[in-house]
Amino acid sequence: MEKIQDFKEYLKIPRKTVILTHFKPDADALGSSLGLAHYLKKKGHPTLVITPSDYPDFIAWMPGNKDVMIHQREKFEKSAKLISQAELIFCLDFSCLSRINDLGEMVRKSSAKKVLIDHHLEPEHFADFEQWDDTAASTAELVFKLIADLGDKNLIDADIADCLYAGLMTDTGSFRHSNTSGQVFQIASELVEHGADPYKVSKLIYDTNTLERLRLMGYVLSEKLQVLPEYRTAYIVLSAEELKRFGSQTGDTEGLVNYGLSVKGVKLSVLISDRRENIKLSLRSLGNFSVNEMARAHFDGGGHRNAAGGQTTLTLEQTVKKFLDILPLYKDQLLND
Ligand code: 5GP
Ligand code: MN
Repeated sequence: MEKIQDFKEYLKIPRKTVILTHFKPDADALGSSLGLAHYLKKKGHPTLVITPSDYPDFIAWMPGNKDVMIHQREKFEKSAKLISQAELIFCLDFSCLSRINDLGEMVRKSSAKKVLIDHHLEPEHFADFEQWDDTAASTAELVFKLIADLGDKNLIDADIADCLYAGLMTDTGSFRHSNTSGQVFQIASELVEHGADPYKVSKLIYDTNTLERLRLMGYVLSEKLQVLPEYRTAYIVLSAEELKRFGSQTGDTEGLVNYGLSVKGVKLSVLISDRRENIKLSLRSLGNFSVNEMARAHFDGGGHRNAAGGQTTLTLEQTVKKFLDILPLYKDQLLND
């Protein structure tokens, strides 16, 4: 099933379908999954979206949200059964099966046809059909293209368009990051023609903060943001106690790392936070400096050149030390333009 024509043929009869996306899904992960789910359901395929974990409230408005199955909240056997019974499995917005934790092995073992739709670097090749493009700004964009390639653009309604628009908007940082191509604007425009409401989507995502989240942001900016001019690096460290003090919920720290990168002269920004189960790192960079490489080499992670994530099982202090200790290895790259 390497070609779109074969895939189209395969979809001619209803297929029991499961759509999976990565741990702690963001707006692109959930938006591309729900956008695709609406489309497949319209085509007559029984479709279920499963996420490995919960996700922020500011994306839970998406049409179809109430039907999403959150694996962490269910019995292991329930997901295992659904995945083993699926005929078709879509993997959206992640490039290696370890990003979906214990669901990864279930997918590997399943005899279903597997489709990868993703824009992260260095994908693991486990799928029968790949819609993979690391130059795409978002997975939502690739779902749009898949629907277009299948000749079904006319099926894109307001629900599908809002979900896909949310992914496109957030993965380009509201059309500001270096991945904001002409094609991004073209697809955004087509989504609006099909009923996406940019005002509604941006209000729901960006203007639904809790007071605690804003207070956390204020605290981070005034007390926690560190800058190391000699490495053109900014970093923020948040302990479990600090996160608890501000009543932090899933998604509350999203976007904080970008403030570091907005400091004049800074090329690398890192947020290190203690999630209790592990230490999570969020990395952002400008230009040619690859945080994907840094996250892969030192923090069991990956992502894109300018936005990546990772984790450690060290303590928070050990993780910060490790990060500061590796900076000299990157000094030349960080100081070169
Ligand atoms: P964030 O910092 O917002 O969590 O993630 C930035 C980018 O890196 C996203 O595209 C996300 O999918 C990816 N990413 C985050 N954490 C990990 C990780 O642990 N492993 C890999 N491979 N990618 C990650
Ligand atoms: Mn994405």
